Amino acid sequence: MQFIDLAVQQKRIKDKIDANIAAILDHGKYIMGPEIGILEKRLADYVGVKHAIGCASGTDALLMALLAYQIGPGDAVFTSPFTFIATAEVISLLGATPVFVDIDPKSFNIDPAKLDRAVSALISNDSDIHPLPIANNPLPITPKGVIGVDLFGLPADYSRIDTIAEERGLFVIEDAAQSFGGEANGKMACSYGNIGCTSFFPAKPLGCYGDGGMCFSGDDELAEIMKSLRVHGKGHHKYDNVRIGVNGRLDTFQAGILLAKFDIFPEEIELRQQVANRYASLLNAHSNLQLPAIPRDYKSAWAQYSVLAADETQRTDLQNKLKVADIPSAIYYPKPLHLQNAFSDLGYRKGDFPISEEISRRIFSLPMHPYLAEEDQQKISAVIGNG
Ligand SMILES: *Cc1c(COP(=O)(O)O)cnc(C)c1O
Repeated sequence: MQFIDLAVQQKRIKDKIDANIAAILDHGKYIMGPEIGILEKRLADYVGVKHAIGCASGTDALLMALLAYQIGPGDAVFTSPFTFIATAEVISLLGATPVFVDIDPKSFNIDPAKLDRAVSALISNDSDIHPLPIANNPLPITPKGVIGVDLFGLPADYSRIDTIAEERGLFVIEDAAQSFGGEANGKMACSYGNIGCTSFFPAKPLGCYGDGGMCFSGDDELAEIMKSLRVHGKGHHKYDNVRIGVNGRLDTFQAGILLAKFDIFPEEIELRQQVANRYASLLNAHSNLQLPAIPRDYKSAWAQYSVLAADETQRTDLQNKLKVADIPSAIYYPKPLHLQNAFSDLGYRKGDFPISEEISRRIFSLPMHPYLAEEDQQKISAVIGNG
């Protein structure tokens, strides 16, 4: 059994992939070939926003979004400590300061009430209100924006995040690396905030065969800036440089592969939902696990199916039993970002974000992909039930 099986999908669309690759070899436009624009148009329509800007990875999408807001030293960007490193890494890379905000224990996404407290704490430089990075003491940092993360495919609570952001004058970036295809209140993931950023890393819901990503925005000016940023801050032409940017283009071959994959993507999102429903009914009987809770009017893209064990010991025990039965499982994420060495200069301490810390000790993810067979899920359930 595979954790994420990409082979079944490839079999379904192999002819289309081969044809798209052959077409690119024929026209030879390897950099910014016509497939890029076609893909951007199709995905912008699907997400329901005006602009899509293909880029080299999900990390570059986040970097370009922050660059579009000219984020740098002295700026504070709020985000979750319970996410993949890239979300906060790009903040630090630009010399700005990540300010972490703990998560909601059910959705695993940033807790809006705590976000509001974090902004107040930063403005009054009072870490009694909310834990702050020590970087705030020598250098006053100004609240600029928030990066909401749609963990495991479930959109964050943007209706509340947007309200707080508006009151506080912050921009909102949606880290939708895991949630392309997800929905909340009738709006697709990637359409939230000022800029939505996704990733086409192979294991994501819509993955290519290498690295890739995309920024989405309804804002004409931001979209223009991001198009410039991805080609070294170009102006009217390649050798007219109006800002400092990156080499952040999406590869033409990856766009060709994504076009083939996108044909069956809406169907795959339905299949993922069926797999999640089957897990829910099979695992419900096992009171030793807490299953994912999807709020009303939300749809997860089910990048991962993550469950909570009672404690770390039980998690180790269940993962061992699964391993013996040849069933892969994984832990996303074993260490919250505020406790990572890479962020040690922020001066956060154990206990600063107790929900993230507790979840990181209890969470683990089961195999999840659109083609996971019912028999395999029954086998998983049987192994867990005996735990
Ligand atoms: C995968 C991921 C990224 C980074 O995407 P890459 O394409 O690997 O650069 C960023 N944020 C989150 C939440 C992710 O899961």
